[in-house]
Amino acid sequence: MLKMDVAVVGGGIAGLTAAIYAGRAGKRTILIEKQERLGGRGMTNKKNGTYFNLGGHALYQSDAYETFREFGLRLQGNQPSIDAFGIWKDKLQVLPTGIGSLMTTPLLSWRGKVEFAGWLAKFGKLDTHAYDKISLRDWIEGHIQDPMVRHIFYSLLRTASYVMAPDLQAAGPVLRQFKSALRGVLYLDRGWGSMVEELRQVASKLGVQIITKSKVVSIEHSEGIVRHVLCEDGTKIEATHVIVTTPPAVLHQLVPRAEATAIHTWKEQAIEVTGACLDVVLRRLPKPKQQFVYGLDHPVFLSNHSRAALMNEDNAQVLSLMKYQGKEKDAKKDLHDLEHALDLIQPGWRSELIDKQYLPKIPVCYDFAHMKRQVDPGPAVPEIKGLYAAGEWVSHGELLVDAATASAKRAVQHILAHEGTERVQGDNHRNIV
Ligand SMILES: Cc1cc2nc3c(=O)[nH]c(=O)nc-3n(C[C@H](O)[C@H](O)[C@H](O)COP(=O)(O)OP(=O)(O)OC[C@H]3O[C@@H](n4cnc5c(N)ncnc54)[C@H](O)[C@@H]3O)c2cc1C
Repeated sequence: MLKMDVAVVGGGIAGLTAAIYAGRAGKRTILIEKQERLGGRGMTNKKNGTYFNLGGHALYQSDAYETFREFGLRLQGNQPSIDAFGIWKDKLQVLPTGIGSLMTTPLLSWRGKVEFAGWLAKFGKLDTHAYDKISLRDWIEGHIQDPMVRHIFYSLLRTASYVMAPDLQAAGPVLRQFKSALRGVLYLDRGWGSMVEELRQVASKLGVQIITKSKVVSIEHSEGIVRHVLCEDGTKIEATHVIVTTPPAVLHQLVPRAEATAIHTWKEQAIEVTGACLDVVLRRLPKPKQQFVYGLDHPVFLSNHSRAALMNEDNAQVLSLMKYQGKEKDAKKDLHDLEHALDLIQPGWRSELIDKQYLPKIPVCYDFAHMKRQVDPGPAVPEIKGLYAAGEWVSHGELLVDAATASAKRAVQHILAHEGTERVQGDNHRNIV
């Protein structure tokens, strides 16, 4: 039996972030990951000289970026150019991303151009919190007149959030995410695995004990207090605080009698979002200008990550395509749609192909801020003292990896605040730990 102050279940980005904050606060901390390697969905697999992320990954200049900078991570990589194209009726057209492309694009009428220019000027000042309680569809239909400007906004906002559910998705969070995308995103050299490795090093330096290949099978509690974590191999870890970063359904399974706690509501209200991802490694690009493409009438997206980051040891081109999935998922059809998009964007790509990776249905998020949500989950499980949830789905309006880091920080903040060692100042989690 190990005795710890904090046990973190899951070694993805939320788990590593929580472990670092707990370690920094001087807590005896252990992190338990079931896979052989850390990183979760932020993992990178190196194959034949190519660094394959699990689908295209961009770091927005938001909570995660700021948190990792605060940890001292180097985050080597670069910002990609935003010169973009849109696919409309099976043709590639220049997408307006600035004044030059706005003037030349054949996608928009003169009226559309004037409306789009207005948005370019005012978007940065938009009070996004005013739209936290309305759906993205209501926001777009209520605020944008021109039909093609609407199409472009649907596509840009879907890509910024990875979610294709405009009737369900709350507008405010995705508008905030898009605002941060406008500040530029970062593509990381050697993929997100390099960031995960930097996080691992920080955690280790702080004395966090890291166990991999160890699956947690139960989180025991009695008399309303968390007691210990039980691993599949029989290891028991007694812990005052347990931060769980698994998906909500797994958290529900791990906690006996979870149906009598808030975990049940969090699991029931969760809406999972998945995507189909095709990454291709090409010797050269048949169309070198077409590296960043949004589907306007199809939910697809392509970005050449190697235009900004080192993704292949021999400088081959590594292109990530994504199809955003709604309720219908058909691995063959999705692959066909992605290859069709690639035929349009990089005709002749098959003769340049060196390697590829296809992920037919990967969860991008296990939940997000949507109109059917009854409560924001976490950080604490109110019925069980010492038990916390973190992870990308434990979002309080943040999206994707920003939700992973923000929720991890909230969990540790809660631990410290309830020990009376730190003061809570509203929801401003950044200044607390
Ligand atoms: C295709 C794709 C593209 C994406 N692109 C972006 C992007 O461009 N920008 C962005 O910000 N975000 C992006 N994301 C989202 C980002 O990858 C996730 O938000 C983030 O990695 C989630 O981290 P997490 O720690 O919350 O969850 P996970 O990474 O899922 O970590 C959970 C960990 O818990 C472990 N675990 C589960 N059960 C147990 C158990 N019983 N015992 C022990 N361990 C357990 C798992 O093995 C896993 O390692 C993308 C995601 C996908 C899938």
